[in-house]
Amino acid sequence: MLEIYNTLKRDKEKFVSRKENRINLFVCGPTVYDDAHIGHGRTYISFDLIKSYLEFVGYSVFYIENITDIDDKIIMRSKERNVLPEILASFYEKRFREDMGRLNVNGVNLFARATEHLAEIESQIDRLIEKGFAYESDDGVYFEVSKFSDYGKLSNQDITKLDNHRLDFNEHKKTANDFALWKKTEIEPYYPSKYGNGRPGWHIEDTAITETYFGSQYDIHGGGLDLIFPHHEAEIAQMEAISGKVPLVKYWMHTGFLNVDGVKMSKSLGNFVTIRELLEDWEPMVFRLFVLSTHYRSPIDFSEKSLNQASKNLGRLKNTVKKLLEFRSFLKELDVEDLSSFPLSPEENFGLTSCYNNDLGLDLLIELHNIEEKFFKSMNDDFNTPRALAAILNFTKSINGFIDEQFENLKDVDGKKIPYNDFKVIFEFSCQSLRFFRDFEKIFKLGLFIKDDEVSSDISKDTIDLLLEIREKLRLDKNYELSDYIRDKMNELGINIEDK
Ligand code: AMP
Repeated sequence: MLEIYNTLKRDKEKFVSRKENRINLFVCGPTVYDDAHIGHGRTYISFDLIKSYLEFVGYSVFYIENITDIDDKIIMRSKERNVLPEILASFYEKRFREDMGRLNVNGVNLFARATEHLAEIESQIDRLIEKGFAYESDDGVYFEVSKFSDYGKLSNQDITKLDNHRLDFNEHKKTANDFALWKKTEIEPYYPSKYGNGRPGWHIEDTAITETYFGSQYDIHGGGLDLIFPHHEAEIAQMEAISGKVPLVKYWMHTGFLNVDGVKMSKSLGNFVTIRELLEDWEPMVFRLFVLSTHYRSPIDFSEKSLNQASKNLGRLKNTVKKLLEFRSFLKELDVEDLSSFPLSPEENFGLTSCYNNDLGLDLLIELHNIEEKFFKSMNDDFNTPRALAAILNFTKSINGFIDEQFENLKDVDGKKIPYNDFKVIFEFSCQSLRFFRDFEKIFKLGLFIKDDEVSSDISKDTIDLLLEIREKLRLDKNYELSDYIRDKMNELGINIEDK
């Protein structure tokens, strides 16, 4: 049974999707005015894993991420660079998606840009005014927080007692808590609306987008911890005020920060390393494993030492998969059917040291079963990836030792070198272990089954093009299940596909 920590309830809860096995997931996406830093990478890797686990356990997940492509920071940066804001935004959106692709973060089904949902934003503002939750003033339209009695329920605070220093005073709004839905301006870029030329407030793009694709209620909303207040609080106020349906989101999930010396990595503090910079020195999958080695809600301290540890662990996992594949090929080639004296009888084994004991493979099969149980129990416990990883890393030791031992102690039977142990058991063990590693790979997406040169040697460009063409046709037919399946399989082979 899967349990998820729900920020709204401040507790772990049994996960029950709203509609059978379908899940609608929304995660706040980036503001595209610069390259993404590794703090962003932490949050998006976490939700990518959450999606792949939910799919692994049988849900069909539709994952939307917004792209904030109009914002003061974008405008400022575009002025500095002397380019149009839309050019700057599309340049950084493209780079963001490239960065995510390199990190195997490919679970997003739809990227939704704010500027492509302006009509939906206006419609939400209309309804909020109509229902008396918003008012127009000289410089824009504001949400009147005092009209929404539940304001503060996500961040668990009494809004009337909020520290006023944290709030934005402005003579155009009734109280400091009120937040902008529309900001009037005649300074480019602006968009026409019945509330005058202007730009949308930050919070309204997300509810306009989610209402368009999911309706007024959905399953999971994610983002970093810093977004709980005011951003996510405001989303709840907007959508619940419009629809009257509670709750907007069933499970609110928030990632902890990636810190440097205990301080959140952020653009504004200047203490950031971009994903691109990091990947000049480190393999993308080392960073992915580094992130997943900490629970998504805990802070991560960024350090070279932890990256080194992740690199070692990735090597260990890859090495074990390689060994298992070699061992299974070796067993397959033995053609054991012909070996009448195989498996060995207990008499033949008599007197041999314990490493030749027929039960060894069996013990490992039992260990595999226990490890799997531990692994899934950890994952079901609010996606506890560090505990799940510890279980599988621990198991690599047993596997490596066992396979080495098998190869070192082959017995000559009818001119064939065969292992001492019960063939059926060790064959079963190698197959079961590989199946477990493949399951692990589907969830963690660390590229464990890819040889460095596999992509270029095993798959021709024509085959890739054909697969992409088929996939495009499937997407046009809205057969997302099959098109996602092709994408995931291609990703496993190291071919990252981005949906435009
Ligand atoms: P932003 O572009 O700053 O709005 O951030 C996009 C997403 O990345 C949000 O969900 C943020 O909470 C998250 N984020 C930003 N900085 C960090 C960080 N240092 N650690 C973890 N997540 C972060």
